[in-house]
Amino acid sequence: MSRIIEKMYVDGQWVESQSGEVRELVNPATEEYLASVTEGTIEDTKSAIEAARRAFDEDDWAFSKARERAALLLKAADLLEQKIDEISLLETLNNGKPLRESSYDVSDAVDQLRYYAGIATKPHGQTFDVPDEMTSSVVREPIGVVGQIIPWNYPLVMAVQKIAPAIAAGCTLVIKPAEQTPLTLIRFFEILDQVGFPKGVVNLVLGSGKTVGAELARNELVDKIAFTGGTETGRAIMISAAQTIKKVGLELGGKSPNIVFADADFETAVDYALYAIYANQGQVCSAGSRLLLEETIYDKFVEELVARAEQIEVGDGTSPTTEMGPLISETQMNRVLHYIELGKSEGATLLCGGKRLDRNGYFIEPTIFTHTTPNMRIVQEEIFGPMLVIQTFKTEEEAIRLANGTKYGLAGAVFTSDVAKAHRVIRKLRAGITWINTYHPTYNEAPWGGYKQSGIGRELGTFGLEAYLEVKQINVNLQVEPTHWFKKRQPKTNETVS
Ligand code: NDP
Repeated sequence: MSRIIEKMYVDGQWVESQSGEVRELVNPATEEYLASVTEGTIEDTKSAIEAARRAFDEDDWAFSKARERAALLLKAADLLEQKIDEISLLETLNNGKPLRESSYDVSDAVDQLRYYAGIATKPHGQTFDVPDEMTSSVVREPIGVVGQIIPWNYPLVMAVQKIAPAIAAGCTLVIKPAEQTPLTLIRFFEILDQVGFPKGVVNLVLGSGKTVGAELARNELVDKIAFTGGTETGRAIMISAAQTIKKVGLELGGKSPNIVFADADFETAVDYALYAIYANQGQVCSAGSRLLLEETIYDKFVEELVARAEQIEVGDGTSPTTEMGPLISETQMNRVLHYIELGKSEGATLLCGGKRLDRNGYFIEPTIFTHTTPNMRIVQEEIFGPMLVIQTFKTEEEAIRLANGTKYGLAGAVFTSDVAKAHRVIRKLRAGITWINTYHPTYNEAPWGGYKQSGIGRELGTFGLEAYLEVKQINVNLQVEPTHWFKKRQPKTNETVS
């Protein structure tokens, strides 16, 4: 039986790659064949970029009406909402995450479309009181053609988080999902096709980062590159984008601290410590991958934490009882297993987990290391898997010093019943996303992004729209007459100047 080859969407058409190459995908929970997708090339990427450029410059999308763009986004939201169950299941089959997480993600994507439809039509100009008989104002205009590169940990919601504001702003776009997880974005593009965007406004190119992604970062017809993924890849993209002075938005890695003081509500703090690291199998940029415990509660806390980690139900995400799924790929599983071995060889103590499950699929047990020192690689580096490292502290100052002691600055949380202490500590954290007495809740209304080597810029909320807009200053002279800054023309012989 011949297999269906999923296509790309370029200039309003469903197309196969010019190379004819095909990539086969497997379900990470079973390692069985899942789907075949066309494998885009640099040439395919160039075609998509040219279509997006033409749609922006020549077909007047740049001057489309905000209310029309909002209507398209609302229609896309309605159609996506009708397919939440189908698309959530597909996300679980492709990415491995438990169904309860997939359906949360798809609902979140629906909400993002509605949020950006809403703010597309809200005022975003400004006027200024300036001297010299002038009025001065600012209008915001779309940046132009944007390239968007998406990781595999949140395949649909992270794509929509970039598509929705770009459309709201009036940009055209070329988006590339991660090679392992294109399926839900392909279904979403079917919806965009149905909604009726003009040709070339939204383009989907499938393929690898080294070809398609690198071309998006390099191509001079692209005005902005928006990327979510690892810090090393982000650095390469930024270097490439610098050649054409592209705007860059980078949402990168993290090694975020979750600080628990002795006066915290015990049950709540244990509960969130687990959620902070094991949600999405720990493949979350903002994961609470370092647990900072006040020494006086260490024994009691760790006993409860380990007992609860050991009872997490790991399995196929399609099963309703599954609490944690497989890692995305064999490569990622091996990367995490490598860090587990590294933790042992660095002298940390393995408290629980540490092994691959003895079955098909890329499953790793919930793992916890303790007796760490701040300079260990397992404490400093992003692992991106179900592996927690514990650090301990005696004082508030020490907690802050340890919390800030990595190159990352994405997220962080504090658990305590002392409100003043919570605020003091949060204000000292060098991180863009923080929580008090909770971990992970994220809102489309609020900005998302990191300090330090965790990124540049912010997505979501009004900040996320701003990221796709240029600012133009318009000055209007209210006294239309010459200044004579340079002297008037002198009359030539036999000529009279009025
Ligand atoms: P990458 O950061 O390399 O991948 C993210 C996206 O970037 C994918 O679409 C990828 O394409 C693309 N990409 C890869 N190389 C380039 C390039 N040179 N130019 C342009 N785009 C590129 O992550 P990996 O999958 O390699 O994972 C490695 C580590 O990165 C993880 O272990 C984790 O630590 C971190 N990571 C962090 C994420 C986050 O949300 N902060 C998300 C994913 C990973 P493709 O995969 O198709 O080749």
